[in-house]
Amino acid sequence: MIIIRTAKGLEEIRQKRQLTLQNSGFVPTMGALHNGHIALLQQSRQENEFSVVSIFVNPTQFNNAEDFARYPVTVEQDVARLEAAGCDILFLPEVEEIYPPAYQAPVYPLGNLENMLEGKFRPGHYQGVCQVVDRLLKIVKPGRLYLGLKDYQQCLVITKMIEVTGHEAKVRLCQTVREDDGLAKSSRNIRLSPEQRAIAPAISQALENIKENIISENLEQLIKLNIEMLVGKGFNVDYLVIADAETLQSLNKLVPGRIAIALAAATIGNIRLIDNMALN
Ligand code: AMP
Repeated sequence: MIIIRTAKGLEEIRQKRQLTLQNSGFVPTMGALHNGHIALLQQSRQENEFSVVSIFVNPTQFNNAEDFARYPVTVEQDVARLEAAGCDILFLPEVEEIYPPAYQAPVYPLGNLENMLEGKFRPGHYQGVCQVVDRLLKIVKPGRLYLGLKDYQQCLVITKMIEVTGHEAKVRLCQTVREDDGLAKSSRNIRLSPEQRAIAPAISQALENIKENIISENLEQLIKLNIEMLVGKGFNVDYLVIADAETLQSLNKLVPGRIAIALAAATIGNIRLIDNMALN
């Protein structure tokens, strides 16, 4: 695996190894890698001759300075993991490489997606996500971009950003990787205390409950019961909703022919976890 720290260095290696839209896949990450990230790399390796992974904790997507400061950094372990998993190129830039002094942040027209659910609780988050992915796509120029469905709204937002900016990368969505007890793997999980870790799977249990018990009408009651369950276990629930999988508009009843998805965000201690599950 080659480790590259600059955009110029990456361009040189692209030329030398002849990376093209046809033969290259890209997995952007913020590091503290787990098997969810590695699954994205594995899918990229199956579909491309060259796989590039980036590790960059993007300051512009954190609406909370403390959350940014506390974000786990485990670069040495990450490098060993990527090497073992067969990554070809690791892009490990400094902030100035992604946002040089002359950088002017565009405003991406994301419509309603930007202000609902995660967007509502994390103002500016999705503009920041778009900034970093836009910059990374300009530097890496991959044919395929691998994203995890764990961050479902992010998948929709990045797909929209690619549409409006005209990047050539095709988005490839990968299933959420979970722990044995259902908890979605997340870099933030390593910050959970043993007590919090024991409670954390309740989020995926709430989503499973909704999936198992869904009826077409009166979804409010089902949501209410599961919010109560989470609150009873000590969570602060930002949202638990059943929504249209394309528009993310909340649903009170299922609409024939449309896919519905349950999405949740809840905090335990000061650790905020998100998860989602397709329902039909
Ligand atoms: P992050 O490093 O958390 O920004 O995530 C980088 C990429 O990995 C994003 O596309 C995430 O959606 C994806 N990802 C994070 N956790 C998981 C998971 N448990 N399963 C699958 N993909 C994931």
